[in-house]
Amino acid sequence: MKISQSYNVDKKGFYGEFGGAFIPEMLYPNIKELEENYIKLTSEINFKREFEQLLKDYVGRPTPLYYAKRMSEKYQTKIYLKREDLCHTGAHKINNTIGQILLAKRLGKTRIIAETGAGQHGVATATVCALAGINCVIYMGELDIKRQSPNVARMKMLGATVRPAISGSKTLKDATNEAIRDWINNPVDTHYIIGSVVGPHPYPDMVARFQSVISEECRYQLKEFEGREYPDHVIACVGGGSNAAGIYYHYLDDPRVNIIAVEAAGQGIKTGKSAATSVLGKIGIIHGSKTLLMQTQDGQITEPYSISAGLDYPGVGPMHAHLFDSGRAEFISVQDKEAMNWGLALSQMEGIIPAIETAHAFSILDVRKFEKEDVLLFNCSGRGDKDLDTYIDYFKL
Ligand SMILES: *Cc1c(COP(=O)(O)O)cnc(C)c1O
Repeated sequence: MKISQSYNVDKKGFYGEFGGAFIPEMLYPNIKELEENYIKLTSEINFKREFEQLLKDYVGRPTPLYYAKRMSEKYQTKIYLKREDLCHTGAHKINNTIGQILLAKRLGKTRIIAETGAGQHGVATATVCALAGINCVIYMGELDIKRQSPNVARMKMLGATVRPAISGSKTLKDATNEAIRDWINNPVDTHYIIGSVVGPHPYPDMVARFQSVISEECRYQLKEFEGREYPDHVIACVGGGSNAAGIYYHYLDDPRVNIIAVEAAGQGIKTGKSAATSVLGKIGIIHGSKTLLMQTQDGQITEPYSISAGLDYPGVGPMHAHLFDSGRAEFISVQDKEAMNWGLALSQMEGIIPAIETAHAFSILDVRKFEKEDVLLFNCSGRGDKDLDTYIDYFKL
């Protein structure tokens, strides 16, 4: 592949034509404060030191890179798993929330808000707020609160206040609206922790930078195994796209690396019950960012669906919209049933029970043939404990 441009963010906050900050005027001061400070503050030596220390002692980094021997034999190629499932709280999301809480402290913020769908980001946020001793309010759709009671209990146990969003469909987008409303009303003391590479600039870039620790570690870990820092293919599931952004980050502009993104096709792309944004999305604005987005002909956001709550999002972050649009990354979409079968397969082939989100990524092995000497790097973004009830129902365990 020829690489003639950078796939990272530009000075104005765009990835190609995607990104930017399309926000109501009342949010300008909040976004401007972040934009002016995020690079400066996160580049300071004492920030880096504290971030690295917490990633090591609290999150458990570096996460292992694991050569999946039985899987590699079966698929006749070299398969490595980056074990983000071993992070504290069970997924990559904590890398970002640690980064943002440290930034919030340096901005003098005394209160944190966040929105959550399935509750994974809510738990990661409540966790770092407990760690930092900062007040935490999590907005969550009333319907999601009913569907995700264990995560609601976790957030409460960690000391967070969970506020139900009772408008609209009572799900993630309504919780987001509530969080934005809160932020407009509390611009001085409050920081809003967004959980993926979505939202207005500088969020996508800021979150990608915090998650980039994943590919930073992969470089030296792969060097030890393979004598080279890069894989031939790097593969991750994409909801908003933060675990993917993290494992792609240091390979974005490296033409030797083929990038593969796996989206959720739910019950099938044509059924109206999917979250396959690259196939079904058109350019639009969601959460302050210009990106690819599933929408009706008159521009209303379509309700997405996936069996995995973390991929159940109607857009993708602007980095991924650009990776798709430019042809830099290969996108595939995978149905619920294929992902569920991979959840079982990975458990029995390697003894690793993955999150259902994560399980989607492995489906590439069923649709694409790789060379025996190819090095495949999968992001094992999270563990399956949270999904046990779904696995139990599905497989009648
Ligand atoms: C939240 C989540 C995802 C999806 O979010 P991204 O921002 O696309 O990474 C994927 N895997 C796991 C385990 C998650 O918890």
